[in-house]
Amino acid sequence: MDADVIVVGGGVIGTAIAWRAARDARDARDARDVILIDPQTDDKASLVAAGMLGPVSESVFGEQNLLNLNLLSIARFPSFNKELEDATGHQTGLRTEGTIAVAYDSDDLAALDRLTAFRHSIGLQAERLDARECRKQEPFLSPATRGGVLAKGDLSVDNRRYLAALKQAAADAGVRTLTGFATSVGDGWVHAITYDTANPAGPANPAGPANPAGPANPNPIPQRLSARHVVVAAGHATSTIDGVPEEVRKAIRPVKGQILRLRHPRGIPPVLTHTVRAIVQGHDVYLVPRADGELVAGATQEERDDRDVTAGAVHDLLRDATTAVPAISELILAEASAGLRPGTSDNGPILGPIKTSTAETERLIIAAGHFRNGVLLSAATADAVTALLNGGQPDAAWAPFQPERFR
Ligand SMILES: Cc1cc2nc3c(=O)[nH]c(=O)nc-3n(C[C@H](O)[C@H](O)[C@H](O)COP(=O)(O)OP(=O)(O)OC[C@H]3O[C@@H](n4cnc5c(N)ncnc54)[C@H](O)[C@@H]3O)c2cc1C
Repeated sequence: MDADVIVVGGGVIGTAIAWRAARDARDARDARDVILIDPQTDDKASLVAAGMLGPVSESVFGEQNLLNLNLLSIARFPSFNKELEDATGHQTGLRTEGTIAVAYDSDDLAALDRLTAFRHSIGLQAERLDARECRKQEPFLSPATRGGVLAKGDLSVDNRRYLAALKQAAADAGVRTLTGFATSVGDGWVHAITYDTANPAGPANPAGPANPAGPANPNPIPQRLSARHVVVAAGHATSTIDGVPEEVRKAIRPVKGQILRLRHPRGIPPVLTHTVRAIVQGHDVYLVPRADGELVAGATQEERDDRDVTAGAVHDLLRDATTAVPAISELILAEASAGLRPGTSDNGPILGPIKTSTAETERLIIAAGHFRNGVLLSAATADAVTALLNGGQPDAAWAPFQPERFR
C-alpha cells in the first residue's frame, strides 16, 4: 500500500479533503498517510472563483436539497476557516459584512421582496432597504438604485488565499503532493503519470506522454499507486478519468465563467464594503470587495469548455459593474480570467462512495460537481469525506447527492 488515502485533484475540494483526512484520522495516535495528485497548473476553478459564500443567492428557488446543503456549509465555514487560519497563521480574508442585492426598477424590487420573504421563511436574515438606506450602506452605488436587500449572514473569502492556506495546512499535516495526473482509478488504486519536479531536466522518457496540462517536463513517470481509499476530486475533469462510473462522467460538464479583478489606485478608498449583486439590463452582476483592495466583478456563465477571455465578456462585465457602481471606472483592471465550473445535470454536487456488487468495501469515493458553490461547500465536503474515511456517515444533508442518483 502506497498510502491510506489518495486524493486526485488539488483545488479547494481535494486540498480541503486531503488536509482533513490527514488531520482527522479516527485514531489520532495513528496518523493517516495521504497522497494528493495534482498537475500543479492554473487550470483550477478554485483560483478563478469570486469567493462568495451565499447560501441563498446561488441556489435557485425550488432547489431545496441544495439549499439545505448550502445552509449546512455556511454554518460550518467560519469554524473550519478559523481552524485553518490557526493551523497555518495565514489570513484567508473572510468577510462578514454581508451582501446587498440592489434593484433599478419595480420588477427587480418585486423580485427582491420575494427573496426577502424567502430568506425569512428559512430563518435567514434579510433587511429591506430603501434607496437612501442602500446608499448610506454603500455611498458609491449608482443614484439610479431604487432599493435593496441586506443579507447579513452571507460571507465571502479570498479564494486564492484560502487555497494557499489549505495547501500549507495539508503539507504541515504530512500530505505528500505528487505533481501529475491520474489517468484511471479503481477500488483502492490509481494509475497516474507523475513528474519529477525535483529533477525536471532529468533524462527524457520517450515512451511517456508529456504533461498536457502543465509546463513541459521531460520526465514523466507512469505509476500504479494503491491505497485503502481513493477520492476523486478533479473538478470538471473528473469526467475525463477512466474508472469513474460512466453515469457520473456523463453528469459532469464544464461551465465557463469569465471574471475580472480590479484594484484601487493608491489614495482611493475602497468603493465597497459589502458584496453587491445587481441585475443590469437582464444581466446578473456581482462585486466582491477584498480587505487588501481587490474588487472582483463577475461573472459570465457559458456552456463552453475553453478558458479564453473574450473582449465581449470584459466589455459586458465592465459595463454592468460601472452601471451598478460608477466609481469602478476609476479602478485598475488588474486581471481578466476564465475558469471552468464543475457543473452537473441537476446542479448538485456528487459525493459518496461508488457502490459495486463485487467489491467487498467501497474504496472509491467521488467528491466533484460543486458547480457554482465549491468554495462555500469545501468545508462541509471535507467533513463529509472524512466521516466516510472514518467509517461513519456524512450529515443527512448530503443524502440526495450520492453518485448513484445518476444511474
Ligand atoms: C467565474 C467563477 C466564479 C465562481 N465563484 C464562486 C463563488 O463565488 N463561490 C463559490 O463557492 N464558488 C464559486 N465558483 C465555483 C468554484 O470555483 C468551484 O465550484 C470550485 O472551485 C470547484 O473546486 P474543485 O476543487 O472541485 O475544482 P478545481 O478548482 O477546478 O480543481 C480541480 C483540480 O483537479 C486537477 N485535475 C484535473 N484533472 C486531474 C487528474 N486527471 N488528475 C489529478 N488532478 C486533476 C486540476 O488541475 C485542478 O487542480 C466560481 C467558479 C467560477 C469559474
